[in-house]
Amino acid sequence: MLTVLSVKDAKERILSAVTAQTHCTTVPLPDATERVLARLVAAHHDLPTFPRSTMDGYAVRAKDTFGASESMPALFDVVGEVMMGQAPPAAVAAGQALRIATGGMLPEGSDAVVMVEHTEELGGATLAVNRAVAPGENTIARGEDIKAGETILPAGHILRPQDIGALAAMGQVMIDVAKKPRVAILSTGDELVMPDMEPKAGQIRDINSYLLSAWAQCCGAEPSRLGIIPDTAEELLNALQNTGDYDCVILSGGSSAGTRDHTASCIDQLGKPGVLFHGVSMRPGKPLIFGVVDGKPYFGLSGNPTSAMVGFLLFVRPLLLQMAGAVERNPVITARAERNLSSASGREDYIRAALYEQEGQLWARPILGQANLISTVVRGDALLRIPQNSEGIEAGDTVEVMLI
Ligand code: AMP
Ligand code: MG
Repeated sequence: MLTVLSVKDAKERILSAVTAQTHCTTVPLPDATERVLARLVAAHHDLPTFPRSTMDGYAVRAKDTFGASESMPALFDVVGEVMMGQAPPAAVAAGQALRIATGGMLPEGSDAVVMVEHTEELGGATLAVNRAVAPGENTIARGEDIKAGETILPAGHILRPQDIGALAAMGQVMIDVAKKPRVAILSTGDELVMPDMEPKAGQIRDINSYLLSAWAQCCGAEPSRLGIIPDTAEELLNALQNTGDYDCVILSGGSSAGTRDHTASCIDQLGKPGVLFHGVSMRPGKPLIFGVVDGKPYFGLSGNPTSAMVGFLLFVRPLLLQMAGAVERNPVITARAERNLSSASGREDYIRAALYEQEGQLWARPILGQANLISTVVRGDALLRIPQNSEGIEAGDTVEVMLI
C-alpha cells in the first residue's frame, strides 16, 4: 500500500515519530567545530577584561584635548609608554599622556586615545595634540565585547569557526557537545559493485553508499557503510538485523513497489510499528519509505542517486539534527528562475539548478535531466523548489532554493 504524503506532512511525521536523542560528550575546543553544543555557554568574565586602545597613539583625558586644533594644539607631558601585555607604568593626570599601541591597556585616569597621526612630539617629552577626542574615542571599554554572565551561545547551536574563536577568548577549552548520531548506510541492488571494482556488463558502481555517508558527515553524524545487499528479502532482513549499534538506518534502492523491492516488507518484519508511510508526493524521490522499529528510524530512499540525495536532505538531515538536539540554521534563500518550468499540481518538485548573479540579482538556471544522473547535482549548486499546489513557474518568478 502506497500512502502518499505531502513533503510537509512527511517531515512532520518523521520528526514526531522519533524522540531518541543522542547523549553528550566532551571534546577539546579544536575538535568542536561543526559539533552541536549540548548546553548553553555563558561568559564567566567580561571581554575584554580591561579597557583597551584601538589605535596607535596617546592615552589622555579627553577633556584636556577639547578645543585643540592645527593652529591651537593642546600640549601634554608624555610620562611614559604602555607596553603590550603589561599593565601601564603610570596613571594619566591632567595634561599628561602615555604612549600606547593598538590593544594596549588604557591607563588609569585616561578615557580616550589620540591617534598618532594627530600629534607631534616636540622634544623634551612635550606632545602637541592638534585634534580633540571625545570620551571613549579609540578605545574598547571593559566588557564591551561580551559581558560577564551573558549567554554567548545557546544549547543546540552548531559551532562555527567564529564561535570557536569566542570560546577561546573565554578560556573554554573543553566543550560539551552532542554525540554524533551513528548512521548505518546500506545500498541494495544486484547490479551494484564497490567503487574500487571494474563493473562488468550490466553492473554499476555503488554511488549512494558514498554520497549518503558524505552527506551524513556534513550534518554532524557518524556514518558507517555496511555494504551492498543483493535483492533478496533474506539477505536484506539479515543485514537489517545487524544494525543494532546504530541510531538510524538508511537504505537506498528497492523502495518502489516492484517484485524485487523488499525494503518495506523487511522493515515491517523487523518489529513494531514498522513502516509508517511509503511514498511522498514529490519529484524526485517519490518512493520514499519511513519506518520506526523499537524507537529507531529506518529510511528507504529511492536508488536513483539524485532522488536519494533529495530524500536525504528533506527528511534524513532534519531528523539527524533533531537527534543531536541541533537547532537548524536554514535561512530561506530565493532566486529568480531563468526559464519557465512546468510541474504537475499536487506534487512538490525539486529542480537542480546552477546559481549565478546578474545585476545584483541571484538567478537559478535549471539543469534538466533524469534523477539517475549524478551530474545534475554535481553541476548544480541548489535545488529549486516548485510548491505542491503550483502548476509551474514562469521565467523571472522568484523561487525558493536550497543550497546543496
Ligand atoms: P531502485 O530504487 O532500486 O529501483 O533503483 C533505481 C535506479 O537507481 C536504478 O537504475 C538503480 O540501478 C540505481 N541505483 C540503485 N542503487 C544505486 C546506487 N547505490 N548507486 C547508484 N545507482 C543506484
Ligand atoms: Mg534496485
